[in-house]
Amino acid sequence: MENDLRRAIVDQELFVVYQPVVMLELTVDRRAFPPHAAAVEALVRWRHPVRGVVPPAEFIGVAEECGAIGALGEFVLDTACRQFVAWKRDLGRLAPRLLAVNLSRAQLNDGGFVAYVSRTLHDSGMDPAELQLEVTESLAAQDESVQARLRQLKELGLTLALDDFGTGYSSLSSLHQLPVATVKIDRSFVSQAVESAHHRVLIEATVRVAVSLNINTVAEGVESDAQASVVRALGCEKGQGYFFSKPLLPESLVDWLRSNDS
Ligand code: C2E
Ligand code: MG
Ligand code: MG
Repeated sequence: MENDLRRAIVDQELFVVYQPVVMLELTVDRRAFPPHAAAVEALVRWRHPVRGVVPPAEFIGVAEECGAIGALGEFVLDTACRQFVAWKRDLGRLAPRLLAVNLSRAQLNDGGFVAYVSRTLHDSGMDPAELQLEVTESLAAQDESVQARLRQLKELGLTLALDDFGTGYSSLSSLHQLPVATVKIDRSFVSQAVESAHHRVLIEATVRVAVSLNINTVAEGVESDAQASVVRALGCEKGQGYFFSKPLLPESLVDWLRSNDS
């Protein structure tokens, strides 16, 4: 797998798909569908010559262990920033407003990473304020060196999001210590929000704490109309999930954006 992955990067078998993140107010309340994308999240895929399209869960870990995550992460950031700038140029008001890119631990431990991000923003012509880097709770809550690197990234003018919130070990009470603009509420809460009062309370508490800290909220993994309505009622600002759209190839994302244009 390790050799396969190294070869995949050289042979350009990796590609990026984009999943829309929508404003729930516009989508749920006004029944606009599909809504304009407030943001898109870049998600990597591997088109393996034998295995077909391989999801990231099956190779991100390997990439981290074998030291290929740096090259992989650079490919995703570079590809996504260029794509985002092209959409802005070609689509105008229909273009997504924010680009979210996932980071892994190994990237944050790399001393050259901040300079790399700065260079990529510059080379792609992307406005730093339009880039949001997603880190997981356990990563963001780590030692002082990681915290320092996150602060340096913020100083470039971009924002940070806390991914999969609720699954890690940091709690609501430590949210104020993390330098994040957005909290993404994990799918495991959203998927039970309709049936379970307990999960609704957890979502509501998260939203309240976030709002008090001026942090945006995104409900992840929204799969039904009922879930969209519940997370909207609990105060989540944005939603992401198969109910709105699966992750899409660039050309399909453009179709999705255009299909709502009247
Ligand atoms: P994530 O950042 O939390 O991304 C959301 C994942 O949930 C994506 O899976 C997405 O396809 C999936 N998803 C979205 N809506 C729904 C839904 O309604 N139902 C269900 N069941 N799933 C939904 P994906 O693309 O397989 O990625 C899995 C994880 O791999 C990501 O979780 C992220 O942690 C990591 N990942 C993906 N791309 C990258 C990357 O470029 N770099 C790094 N470091 N990690 C990445
Ligand atoms: Mg993410
Ligand atoms: Mg997530």
